[in-house]
Amino acid sequence: MGLLTIGAFARAARLTPKALRLYDEQGLLPPAAVDPESGYRYYHPDQLDRARLIARLRDIGMPLADIAAVCRLPPGAAAEAVTAYARKVSADSARRRRLAALLVGQLAEGSTTMSENHHIAVRYAARCDVGAVRKTNEDAGYAGEHLLAVADGMRGPGGDAASAAAIDSCTALDTAGASPADLLTMAAAAVTDADARIRAVGTEEHRPVTTLTAVLRSGSQLALVHVGDTRAYLLRGGDLVPLTRDHTYVQALVDQGKLSPAEAAAHPRRALLTRALGAGSGPVEADLALRTALPGDRYLLCSDGLHAVVAWEALYETLTSRTDPDQAVDRLIELAYAAGAPDNIACVVADVTGQ
Ligand code: MG
Repeated sequence: MGLLTIGAFARAARLTPKALRLYDEQGLLPPAAVDPESGYRYYHPDQLDRARLIARLRDIGMPLADIAAVCRLPPGAAAEAVTAYARKVSADSARRRRLAALLVGQLAEGSTTMSENHHIAVRYAARCDVGAVRKTNEDAGYAGEHLLAVADGMRGPGGDAASAAAIDSCTALDTAGASPADLLTMAAAAVTDADARIRAVGTEEHRPVTTLTAVLRSGSQLALVHVGDTRAYLLRGGDLVPLTRDHTYVQALVDQGKLSPAEAAAHPRRALLTRALGAGSGPVEADLALRTALPGDRYLLCSDGLHAVVAWEALYETLTSRTDPDQAVDRLIELAYAAGAPDNIACVVADVTGQ
């Protein structure tokens, strides 16, 4: 079959000559021949399939460099590459949607709330204990004026380095300099940084992972960031409420109505995480939330070494009866020991006070 002019080929492929010139410049679809005199480009009808594939990949927003890679693949591998791209696009847009929703909430709350009530202080205590059974401690905890954090590292060697890396990525944020408006962005950046650092800790065969639950503070504005099954609770006005939802297999079953919370707590796979830092092939999806701290608030952050073995009533009783954060933390660790302390225990208690 003879060659087609660029105009005829463009019409057959339902593309513009301009698009074809761009594909040529990018090395995606060189013409079959170029007239040395006139510079006219000619295409072979066999090139139509490639032109249509490129056009459809451009329609789904794939960058030209990725399109070149897909075009070099056999059909099965190309299908996988497009699936992976689609998954990344939907994860990216989900993340943007969440950040946008948070920003909308922040803007709706208005600048008044954000600038008021800055005169608060925090009293805090943090303890991390190996427990009665484990030989090593892979949990980590941190408390400071502007940051509270716990992390539970796992998967054997490197679990401790993973939890330490997660906390390290946040400790730079324990400063008075952060503006309330930047808190969420900083929290999200710390998670991305921690995720990358933890991937660097392991090898392809053995990659440790960690959870991270952290609260960043600027004045009375708090940003909560959470991945995994470490938890944050708030005691306010006599009520103890969870601020985080576990990213676990059993929590997903509870959400679907397939397990009761009591069954989940006793489930043999209750520690199986659906999200963790360092896990997965793409960037980790963290839960982010903004909150306003009030004088009188008490925050508890802890690993499952505490919340999986000490009953809610005992947490509540301790948090409401021990006024000093140090004493509260000591008592909570005692309670974990009384329950056998089968796992490492990270525990942070922080009280918000008026200045
Ligand atoms: Mg644990």
